[in-house]
Amino acid sequence: MKRLTHSLLTATPGTRRDVVSEHYGPAQYTRKVYIQACLHADETPAMLVASELRQRLLALEAAGRLAAQVVLVPVANPAGLAQFVMGAPSGRFELGSGRNYNRDFPFPLEAIVQRVEGQLTDDPAHNLKVVRVAWQQSLEAITPRDEMASLQRQLMLLACDAELVLDLHCSREAVMHLYTSEWSWAQVEPLARYIGSQATLLSVDSQALSFDEALSLIWWRLRERLQGQYPIPLGNACVTVEHRGQRDVDADLACQDADAIIAALVHAGFISGEPEALPELLWPATPLAGSEQFIAPMGGVLVHRVALGAQVSPGQAMFDLVDPLSGEVTTVHSATAGVLYMRRDVRFVRPGDPLGRVTGHVPVRTGKLLSA
Ligand SMILES: [Zn+2]
Repeated sequence: MKRLTHSLLTATPGTRRDVVSEHYGPAQYTRKVYIQACLHADETPAMLVASELRQRLLALEAAGRLAAQVVLVPVANPAGLAQFVMGAPSGRFELGSGRNYNRDFPFPLEAIVQRVEGQLTDDPAHNLKVVRVAWQQSLEAITPRDEMASLQRQLMLLACDAELVLDLHCSREAVMHLYTSEWSWAQVEPLARYIGSQATLLSVDSQALSFDEALSLIWWRLRERLQGQYPIPLGNACVTVEHRGQRDVDADLACQDADAIIAALVHAGFISGEPEALPELLWPATPLAGSEQFIAPMGGVLVHRVALGAQVSPGQAMFDLVDPLSGEVTTVHSATAGVLYMRRDVRFVRPGDPLGRVTGHVPVRTGKLLSA
């Protein structure tokens, strides 16, 4: 394993932050896997999974079983990890600007189109290489305006030539679930089975430009732009893995998740060995636009009425909001049939606060499909 240190743009005089990447397997490679944890820095379960992955990757490398380069970034957001407010970790948003660390990643589509001009052929494998080089050069040409932009650019640079990208997160209170693109799903499905995903949310463009989306959507948009001229492959599969809820930091769960990720890499041939039998898929993938996102109509004490992972029916009572002054109870009902895959952790709400989400088979939402 080779450990590399990537310095970020210095935020304030006298400080320095680095992204550390660990590179396993052959230095000369044709296939690459990229795995990062805790882009939202207060999502600790993902960090523990990364730690477990390190042990497994070291052993696999020593055994000569890595058929691809595997890059692991166990702390993807050292800036967010340093943010505490009155003792509580706060890693989802950059406190100085309020920006979500996992939104609006660089998307240099026009720069790539310009750089590949005159280099593309009828050979998709050749075009894959040309686009990857152009993408890397386009990212390197960006001058980051602040520390967060330099962090986002650095993470993209580490991931943009990977065939498979895993972005390890967690939610508030949640069951294991995944976000991926419609065209990545076929490659991600074995992971969903091994890791026991209870919900998978698919989209083409959620308009978030989250890390996984910015990486996979570039190929989709390039293909649209160059349609009929050159064959452009979909160069990667990207997935955001939600390792349950923020408090689900558990040694057994982390081992289980790390084993599942390794099993998926064996299944895809990134690691040599006999693939484990594929377990049942616990729940079919459904459109992100079909998930029902519940919002508090009033303030009050939140009482959950449905267990995480439960299958709910249209009309089912989901959440009670209790007005502590009058005792009046307002109940929020589901309009959807699906699985309650995540719900709110803080038990007091204001009007407009999110309460939870249920998968749905029929797209009902448009525009921005993810929260800010
Ligand atoms: Zn997250």
